Formats: sequence, C-alpha cells, structure tokens
Amino acid sequence: MGSTVEGPQGVIPARLLHGQKALVTGANSGIGKATAIGLGRAGADVVVNYVAGREAAEEVVEEIASFGVRAAAYEADVSQEDQVTAMMDRMVKEFGTVDILVANAGLQRDARLTEMTLAQWQKVIDVNLTGQFLCAREAAKEFRRRGVVPEVSRAAGKIICMSSVHQIIPWSGHVNYASSKGGVQMMMQTLAQELAPEKIRVNAVAPGAIKTPINRAAWETAEARQDLLRLIPYDRIGDPEDIANAVVALSSDLMDYVVGTTLYVDGGMTLFPGFATGG
Ligand code: NAD
Repeated sequence: MGSTVEGPQGVIPARLLHGQKALVTGANSGIGKATAIGLGRAGADVVVNYVAGREAAEEVVEEIASFGVRAAAYEADVSQEDQVTAMMDRMVKEFGTVDILVANAGLQRDARLTEMTLAQWQKVIDVNLTGQFLCAREAAKEFRRRGVVPEVSRAAGKIICMSSVHQIIPWSGHVNYASSKGGVQMMMQTLAQELAPEKIRVNAVAPGAIKTPINRAAWETAEARQDLLRLIPYDRIGDPEDIANAVVALSSDLMDYVVGTTLYVDGGMTLFPGFATGG
C-alpha cells in the first residue's frame, strides 16, 4: 500500500485512493471537512463543495493540496438541480471524471411537531434528502459514461451517503431530520440495488454523536456532555476523523464487495444502551 501518513485518529495509507477523484459536499465544516482531508491523505484528488464560507473551503483545499494531490473548492447548493449539474459538469471538465461521491451536506431546523413550520420541514428534506438524490443521480451518469478503469478501481464508482443513527432511532423534536435520514436509508438501498449491476457501489455511513458545529449544544457544556455520554457505550463523543476514516475505507477497494450497507460509526449508540442495566 506504499507509505503511510499519520492521521489525527490513526493511519491512512497514503496511496489507498491514488488516481481517484472525489467530490465531498458540505466539505468546509465538520465531518465533510475531515472526510475531504482524509480522502486527500489517501491520495485522491478532491473537490470541496460548499454553499457558504468560501474562505473555510479554501483552507480545506490548501490542506489537501499539501498532500501532493489536486484540490479545488466549488460553490453549489446541493438542493438546487441546476447548481448540482453545473458542479458535476465542471468537475468532469476540470478533473476528468469523478470516482467517489460523498453526499455529506446536511442541516437541522429543530422544532416540536406543532411548532414546526412547513419551511423548516421542507428545508431539511430539500438539503438532506433531495440534495443527496441530485448528487447521486449526476454522479451515476458519469460513472456509467466512464465505466470501470481497472488501474483506478474495481468499481465504476462509489457513492457514500452520509446518514445518521437517526435513520433508525426516532428523535423527538426533530421529525424533519429523522425523516430525511430514514429516507436516505431507503434511497441508498434502492440505488445500491439498481446500480450494482453497473459496478457502482452505493453505501452509507451513519454517525452517532460527533463533535461538529451541527450539534454544538449537545457537547459544549460538561452537563450536556455527561447526558450525551449516557447514550454512548464506548464512553467518548466521536471526532469528525472517526467518520472520515470510515468513509476512506468504504470508498476503497478494500471494501469492494460491500454494497448497500450502512456502516454505523457511533460508539455503540445503536445498541440500546438503556438495556445495559435494565430489561
Ligand atoms: P456541519 O454543520 O459542520 O456541516 C454541514 C455542512 O453541510 C456545512 O459545510 C454546510 O455548509 C453544508 N451545507 C448545508 N446546506 C448545504 C447546501 N444546501 N448545499 C451544500 N452544502 C450545504 O455538520 P456535520 O456534523 O459535519 O454534518 C455533516 C453530515 O453528517 C450531515 O449530513 C449530518 O446530518 C450528518 N451527521 C452528523 C452527526 C453529528 O453528530 N455531527 C451525526 C449524524 C449525522
């Protein structure tokens, strides 16, 4: 596998994804940022998508470029069809193709049911679910056009959907978010079934509680952290690099036979920790 580069959470083989082109949406913050950097460490050229915050996106590009691979920041709102198609066209023109899509962009607009506006519901569905659909559709067209290039990868393309433990854990006060991730699960499985004969691998990563701006309130104070840790058997809150490492592995040929699977990266959050002492 060639030399290795020390990552913040372990060791990523530096040539694991050599010659591959990756697009990560929402890559100027949190999990998307760590994932874009992880893919770059693994030797992929990376497009860093962002919707706001060009400076932060350029910083990610700079860090990725320091690994000796190519990187660029593309602005696009993943919920807008014309912006997604333009982004994919640009990537094919400037990078030649796309081998890995990490459909990561996502947001929350929390409210209890009777206080939730239609706009809050719609925004979350538009970005978290429709955004992944649009990016997956455009990536699949390019994977099909190009087909398998054996020197690059055994697959014609890889799509990793960023889901959440809330694709299976109901979440009071977050019906829009939980519904969007439940939708991502079924979308991912359906696309995996539909595209597998074309050697396109579709999978998901489902993070548990990861320290990022999206859930700052859940880990910022000692009290909130204690509350959160009660839900995590492994007894630590996750770091963005925990998710990045999983995405790098899942998108590599090490996982070539993994199709239509959700990899939970959650410190055991989905193990019904309440039953550890009761039941
Ligand atoms: P974050 O807020 O740090 O990052 C979200 C990114 O998505 C940002 O870069 C944001 O600008 C971008 N984004 C939002 N709307 C967009 C749009 N319309 N077009 C393009 N980009 C857009 O949060 P994060 O925790 O890094 O979240 C990343 C993904 O991980 C999300 O899909 C989230 O649901 C998922 N996730 C996070 C956690 C966690 O604990 N942090 C847990 C489970 C799942």
